[in-house]
Amino acid sequence: ARMVQLAAADRPDDEGLRLIFLSDVTAETDLRRMKTQFLATAAHELRAPMGSIRGFTELLLMRQHGPEDTREMLETVRRQALRLNALLTDLLDLSKLEAQGPTAFELGPVALHEVVRRALRVVVLPTEPRPVDWQLGEAPVMVCGHAAKLEQVLINLLSNACKYSPARAPLQLRLKRCQRQGRDWWALSVTDQGVGLSSEHLGQLFTRFFRAQPDGPVPGTGLGLVIVKELVERMGGQVEVQSALGQGSTFTLLLQDAGPPPLAEVPTAALP
Ligand code: ADP
Repeated sequence: ARMVQLAAADRPDDEGLRLIFLSDVTAETDLRRMKTQFLATAAHELRAPMGSIRGFTELLLMRQHGPEDTREMLETVRRQALRLNALLTDLLDLSKLEAQGPTAFELGPVALHEVVRRALRVVVLPTEPRPVDWQLGEAPVMVCGHAAKLEQVLINLLSNACKYSPARAPLQLRLKRCQRQGRDWWALSVTDQGVGLSSEHLGQLFTRFFRAQPDGPVPGTGLGLVIVKELVERMGGQVEVQSALGQGSTFTLLLQDAGPPPLAEVPTAALP
């Protein structure tokens, strides 16, 4: 249904007659409704950890508890404070992206292997080792993007792959060249052997605050993938997902090819 705004004005020369103006404000109204809805959801999401922090601190102040109980309550307070922090960081990231519009960051050629290496070092920690089957080829690949933002995207995808699969379950990284819309692309995919997603949930994956198991044991904000999509699209790329419940997931980034690497990036053995 379209939303129409009515405005009336008297016609000075013709007594008794009124002019009626109609204007289509559907898009404007939709935007306003989306913003209000977003604010309501964000406030709701922030309220839960706040409420829990308040409740537990009040309980702790009210009377003496045994050391075990005190510790458990403080652990909860800490966990909820961390959750609040994660939510605020993601919300700020999103609002910065929106405020800055399409020129949020400058694009240029990015050495893909280096970014993947850096992201893996952040996510796959020596304390929680996990086999990574990495088949990206040896030759350096340049894509169009922004190195730090692409690293942020990969950190998000890799940490989801870890979060939503059993400890030590292997991850698979693949890089393939592909052609779409008459352009050359690089398809970089991250595959996990985790819980996977139902087809119903797949459709909601990039919706703000969506979490398939909101009350599950894995902490999260439901904003990570929204940020991933925003960032990748601003780099002229796309995100695709393949998944089935209980059968793991593959998240694929389609990134535009940025041509051959500068000479310094080519291993000397490869030079003629
Ligand atoms: P978060 O992980 O903070 O909840 P995301 O936006 O990164 O938020 O992901 C949204 C939801 O999508 C997650 O809560 C989870 O249910 C689902 N999801 C994301 N990545 C995966 C994955 N690799 N395997 C299974 N489910 C996933």
